[in-house]
Amino acid sequence: SKYYTGPQSVVIGLDRVDLSFQMGEFVAITGESGSGKSTLAHVLGGILPYEAGELLVEGKPTSHYDGSDWERYRRDKISFISQSYGILAGSTVLSNVVSALRLSGMTSREARAEAEIILRRVELWDMKNRRAAKLSSGQKQRLSIARALAKPAPILLADEPTGNLDEENSAKVISLLADAAKERLVILITHEFSEVENFATRRICLQDGAVTMDTRLRPPAAVEFSPRPTGKKQHLGAYIAGLQLRSQPVWSAMMLLFFALTAFAVFAFLGTFIVALDDTPTRIYDNSAFQNGDPCRVVVVRADGGTLTREDADALLELEYVQSLERYGYLRDIGCFHIPETHYHSQAELINVGSKLDPIFEKTNVLMLRSTSDYLQTVPLMPEGSTFLTGGRLPESACEVVAVGGEELIGTEKTVYIRNEKAWNSNVEIALEVTVVGVTDYGSGLYFYEDIGRMFVCQPSQGYPAHGYPYYLPNASITDDSAFFCTPTWYGDLAGLSLSFLNYRKTEGTTFDDITREDYQRLTVELCCAGYHSSSYPNLYEVSPATFDTLVPDDWGNQFSLTIEDYAYTDRVIASVKALGYEAVSPFREGSAQIDPDKAAERKQTLWICLLALIVIFALQIIVLKAMFGMKHESYRLLSNIGLDCRSAKGSVLLQLLLFTVLGQALGFCGIAAGARLGIEQIVNLTRYLPALYALILCAVHLLATGISALWIMRGLRKQVYPFTAVKPDLALSEEVEV
Ligand code: ADP
Ligand code: MG
Repeated sequence: SKYYTGPQSVVIGLDRVDLSFQMGEFVAITGESGSGKSTLAHVLGGILPYEAGELLVEGKPTSHYDGSDWERYRRDKISFISQSYGILAGSTVLSNVVSALRLSGMTSREARAEAEIILRRVELWDMKNRRAAKLSSGQKQRLSIARALAKPAPILLADEPTGNLDEENSAKVISLLADAAKERLVILITHEFSEVENFATRRICLQDGAVTMDTRLRPPAAVEFSPRPTGKKQHLGAYIAGLQLRSQPVWSAMMLLFFALTAFAVFAFLGTFIVALDDTPTRIYDNSAFQNGDPCRVVVVRADGGTLTREDADALLELEYVQSLERYGYLRDIGCFHIPETHYHSQAELINVGSKLDPIFEKTNVLMLRSTSDYLQTVPLMPEGSTFLTGGRLPESACEVVAVGGEELIGTEKTVYIRNEKAWNSNVEIALEVTVVGVTDYGSGLYFYEDIGRMFVCQPSQGYPAHGYPYYLPNASITDDSAFFCTPTWYGDLAGLSLSFLNYRKTEGTTFDDITREDYQRLTVELCCAGYHSSSYPNLYEVSPATFDTLVPDDWGNQFSLTIEDYAYTDRVIASVKALGYEAVSPFREGSAQIDPDKAAERKQTLWICLLALIVIFALQIIVLKAMFGMKHESYRLLSNIGLDCRSAKGSVLLQLLLFTVLGQALGFCGIAAGARLGIEQIVNLTRYLPALYALILCAVHLLATGISALWIMRGLRKQVYPFTAVKPDLALSEEVEV
């Protein structure tokens, strides 16, 4: 007996049916619609479970069968032909037959050879490469029979195979089945008994699930079924996966696109999340330690505080992400204003400051400096292979510079104002006339002759201020090609230093009193003292090259300033610098102290949005995959009916998902690479922030969602397609119904 138990009702499918069949029979089962014919065929075929009684196969009971026993039964004993053809619509005629043969254990070569024989027999060989969906109904049914015949199973079950066919096609089908009955048991369900009258050996009538008639019409063929030796069981997961993918190219392409999109989305949101974990950009830069908080700047000193050398520079320049090295690192904290109207506003003779000062400052300008400034720098050292100059030549004296821009800049003159807010009175600027002798496309600002650097870092004894970073406080000095100038700082104990410089004269033997107004003008030095009221004033003096060399040691000081490709690489660069045995800090990071509440709130929001988006993507991925594979249940059911075991079915799902994941990620990463190459800023930023390790994390997160979906899909497959494994017959209910 077989019952269909619904939520509210129980329908009787088969009511104590007692029948036995033997090889060689061609049994016709007839009955009205709803009489239980299909139910009987499905129970006999091991496709539906029965609840009461016993199905004996070769004399052995089956009520104790578990899922895999039924799988084996379906695979080895049953060929099933259904009214709805039960063919893989998306696959070709040939692969429909080959798949059945493969599932019965043949190798692909054997299966192909066998398929040809059978397809010729059903007259479909000519259209072997046509998709099954494109066949006419007669051809479809013949294909379905070909597939059933291909399978070396002793029992052939056909559930109304002619239901959709015209007379001519029906006759063809029936004669094929009658042929098959010569070597096996054929059970044919039909509501048109007349069409099998001439072949059937037995007729059974069903009504309301019960047998009402069982007549023998002629003796069955005397056959001994000799199953073809089947090869050993093969791992069919990959084969089925391939079959599925090929049979539904649109579905497969959509899946691939979906995986590529989710991979990309995970990259974008997880990446943004990781980037937002660094809260430095939400802080306000505090310049008490480093004046210049350029995010791309990394300051390097020797661990022992000693003087740096060419070898140190070479080692640092070899590090990844290091673009250039300023050998006089402290220079980068000294402001350099050189673009009128942008960096400064010059208001000559606006305020009569000169009257309070020495007459030599009569021409003093009042400068309104703006907050945007460049910083001092010398021609940087760059890794081998990088070119710095794009035109002209390098500076050869303190009054020559390289500028950023085109060759037309060469020969132009500029006034540069230098202000060291850290060391001098904050209102003091040194003005310097310079000529552009070379041009570059690297960085920004002006690049000076190295003597400028030497001057500013030449007083190591002034280093180590209170904030703890071992960098120099310079006294300021500027050289022209043959000399250098010195301006004292305004700090008390440095006043003495300024006096000591006074003793070094431009020309040996002259005294301080000999310096005339003309001397200053000839040296094209302007001192700008806006709004200060000090009795002191800045002094710049020229000395001879010999004196310069005496005063300024010809070394590189003890601090380098690296320029890295992007702030994103800060951690990686600092780590590799430290690995070489140096100390390194990011001024931007060290100086970013106080949190800007607005920016912090924005960052928090970004973090939450990314987290939520990731969760949504994660859930979406699982749900969409489940739904997409749900569309395949029908085709898995067909395959299971012709013998696909649950394990291989699951294996094929897993393989497909794995393939999609790998290809999707590859595609996603191609998209990222393309985006980065096209210079889409957001993508470029993310790729910079995410080192290779994060790419792995990204793939893992993406794969995790796939894994969870896979488990869910496989569970669905087991429940929907392989009910025997999951659904235990409800015995209590069955008994009750029987009573
Ligand atoms: P036939 O093939 O002779 O038309 P079926 O075997 O399909 O008849 O159906 C026999 C009875 O079982 C019918 O009353 C039908 O409504 C019922 N039935 C068939 N399949 C199901 C099902 N999946 N759930 C509930 N009832 C079903
Ligand atoms: Mg039916």
